[in-house]
Amino acid sequence: MSENALALVVRGTDWSETSRISTLFTREFGKIRALAKGGRRLNSKFEIAFDLLNVVQVVFLKKTGGLELLTEAQIVERFPHLRTNLPALYAGYYIAELLSEGTQDYDPHPALFDAALETLRTLTESVPRRVSAFELVWLRELGYSPRLDACAVCARGLSVPEAEPVRVEYSPEAGGLVCPDCLSQARDRRPLSAVARSILQGLAGPPDGAPKPPELVPLSAVREVRAALGQTVSYVLGRRPRLLGYVDG
Ligand SMILES: [Zn+2]
Repeated sequence: MSENALALVVRGTDWSETSRISTLFTREFGKIRALAKGGRRLNSKFEIAFDLLNVVQVVFLKKTGGLELLTEAQIVERFPHLRTNLPALYAGYYIAELLSEGTQDYDPHPALFDAALETLRTLTESVPRRVSAFELVWLRELGYSPRLDACAVCARGLSVPEAEPVRVEYSPEAGGLVCPDCLSQARDRRPLSAVARSILQGLAGPPDGAPKPPELVPLSAVREVRAALGQTVSYVLGRRPRLLGYVDG
């Protein structure tokens, strides 16, 4: 059966001189692995279509055995600004890794697909903030949204700002914020300042919320947010993403 899909190339793997296997994250079907014959021949219509992070309209034949046969491919969007901005390029590769390694075959997440493209388009500035916002969409789509309005263990409300400063920490294993009474139940907890907490809540909230101008956010709080999210993504993935160190390096 022939299928149409809009796809982001999340992994390209050379297979032989004349064929190429790529991992595509499609809007319609989720992740697929597809074989492009003639993938390395000169003048092939597939020659450059399956470069990492290209957006490609594809037609493929669904096969049994998990490797689809690509019959048509047309590049519809590329992100050339990533080539001139190393932090943005690393962030793009990181997004590809999260889509490739964090999702299952044929498990579609159109909201995640849209968030990936929107992030790749806007990775010209505020890279840490945009990567963090994408990670939160990725976590939500996979069912691992961290709880940020209350203690993830006992559900005690933890609003910001508070009349009395409360020592709140953060734990991927517990599933979000942890109040002082529950700290002993969160072995992987890390301290999280009120500023970092409010950044996280802002990023996880509705996208129309006006983001704070970067100069008003202390760098130490940005680092806290990056560390908390990196730890959460690693927890969900079961390992530290290969590109994470480059994104936060
Ligand atoms: Zn609690």
